[in-house]
Amino acid sequence: MIYDLHTHSNVSDGILSPTELVSRANLKGVTHLALTDHDTLGGISEAQAAANDYDLQLIPGIELSCQWQGINIHIVGLNVNIDSAELNKLVETQVVARATRAEEIARRLAKEGIQGALEGAQKHAGSSLIGRPHFARYLIEIGAVTSVNQAFKKFLGAGKAGDVKQVWPEVVEAVSLLLRSKATPILAHPLRYNVTLTKLRRLLDDFKQAGGMGLEVLSGKQSINETKTALGLVSRFELMASCGSDFHVPDQPWQELGCFGKLPPECTPVWQAWR
Ligand code: AMP
Ligand code: MN
Ligand code: MN
Ligand code: MN
Repeated sequence: MIYDLHTHSNVSDGILSPTELVSRANLKGVTHLALTDHDTLGGISEAQAAANDYDLQLIPGIELSCQWQGINIHIVGLNVNIDSAELNKLVETQVVARATRAEEIARRLAKEGIQGALEGAQKHAGSSLIGRPHFARYLIEIGAVTSVNQAFKKFLGAGKAGDVKQVWPEVVEAVSLLLRSKATPILAHPLRYNVTLTKLRRLLDDFKQAGGMGLEVLSGKQSINETKTALGLVSRFELMASCGSDFHVPDQPWQELGCFGKLPPECTPVWQAWR
């Protein structure tokens, strides 16, 4: 069995439709797939319908944009109830927050000499929920940068013009809400926040105290040392272990569906609690 518990479709910033995503996951041998689009549940029904055509279990999920001590943190909710009124209300707020943030990012980019970013990013987003990757595609289009990575380094990443996080809920609020709607709160990609281990532990103190249940021990491609660090954290904070590719696009072999190895036997997989 292969569990991939963190993936994106074109309802947020991925490239594949929910149906195409499920089909590719099936092709890659994934047996349990969580669709965890950023701040939206919009792809779940389509993914569920597609999963019914395969021997694949679809786990409804979401990746919530949050903030903690001035840092943009991602909390994945697994097994979310897509009919939860409270969760749907938060999603509505997040959608508005994304629109407001996009305007602010464009204003800040204009100050750096980048004109027309809002319209440009919106064109790339189409009917998807707008995010920084759509700004990145616009920056490449106008020749301001040559790659998405460079776009984040120069304009969109932490400390740069696109780093607007005041619009997001606090981590503890998001965790509490997920728990109330019977979902499993997971700290996504713990080693991608560019903070010291001390600070990460403080985040995990708050996450655990709020009722946070799991941490991604395996996320996309990571080094053996990063996996060791993540294992130390699940043990220290008595959390369950999750794993997910964080798949967005098909042409990135380091973030392929189901391709991140097996969870080490010493940790407790998050799905044990679901049986
Ligand atoms: P947003 O959800 O709009 O805040 O944008 C964050 C998303 O941008 C992440 O989920 C990734 O998909 C993408 N991203 C973040 N950092 C990078 C990076 N350095 N290079 C490429 N994509 C990135
Ligand atoms: Mn993304
Ligand atoms: Mn993320
Ligand atoms: Mn993600």
